[in-house]
Amino acid sequence: MNEPPALQLEAVERRYIQGESTLEILAGASLSVWPGESVALIAPSGAGKSTLLHIAGLLEHPDKGEVSICERATTTLPDSERTAIRRADIGFIYQFHHLLPEFTALENVMLPQMIQGTSRGEARARATDLLAFLGLAQRLEHRPAELSGGEQQRVAIARAVANAPRVLLADEPTGNLDPQTADLVFETLTKLVQATELAAVIATHNLALAGRMTRRVTLQEGKVVELA
Ligand code: ADP
Repeated sequence: MNEPPALQLEAVERRYIQGESTLEILAGASLSVWPGESVALIAPSGAGKSTLLHIAGLLEHPDKGEVSICERATTTLPDSERTAIRRADIGFIYQFHHLLPEFTALENVMLPQMIQGTSRGEARARATDLLAFLGLAQRLEHRPAELSGGEQQRVAIARAVANAPRVLLADEPTGNLDPQTADLVFETLTKLVQATELAAVIATHNLALAGRMTRRVTLQEGKVVELA
C-alpha cells in the first residue's frame, strides 16, 4: 500500500504493577491500520484488548513504544495536543452506548460537532445525513429510551464519527446485542468504515462478524499477531 497507515502502534509496552508482581500486558505490540481497513481484535478476556484500544486512542500512555495517528508521533506531545488529536481524529464506540438520555438522536450526534466549533446548522445537516446513512432517518427526534438496542448503538456509531475522525476504535460494540441485531449493526458499521475510509480496530468475541472484516489479529504474550 502506498498511502501511510492512519494508525500505527510500534513496539508498545504497557505493564501494571500489582503489589509484588508486574503484569506485562503489552510487550512489544505493533499494529498498522490503513484507511478503509477494519481490523478485528480477538483475544480472551484479560488479554489486553481494552488497554491496546486505550493506548491507540491516546487515552492512556504506553510505558514504551510509539503511537502515530496519521503519521504524527504522539507519545512526547503535551496532553493538550494529544487531546486535540483525539477529539479531531479518533472516534470511540463502547459496548454500552452512553448516549445522553435527555437529548434526541439528532442532538446526540450534533453535540460533539458543536463542541468542536461546527455551527448548529452544519452540525444538524451532517447529523441528519449520518443517521440516514445508518438507517435512522425516521428516528431523528427519538430519545435513547425510545430506541431499540440496535438503534441506540447505531446512534452511538454516528456520534463516534460525527467529527469525521480518521481512526475508529470499538470495544465490543455489539457485545450487548442479540445475534440478529449485532449482525445488522455490524453491517452498518463496516459499510461506514469503507464509505468514509476510516481505519477501524474493533475488539469482538464474535468470530462470524470478525470473519467479515478486512483483517483479524490477536494478542499473544503482549504482542499483536495476525490471524488468517
Ligand atoms: P481485555 O480488554 O482483553 O479484557 P484489559 O486490557 O481490560 O483486557 O486488561 C488486561 C489486564 O490488565 C487484565 O488482567 C486487567 O486486570 C489488567 N489491568 C487493566 N487495567 C489495569 C489497571 N489500571 N491496573 C492494574 N491492572 C490493570
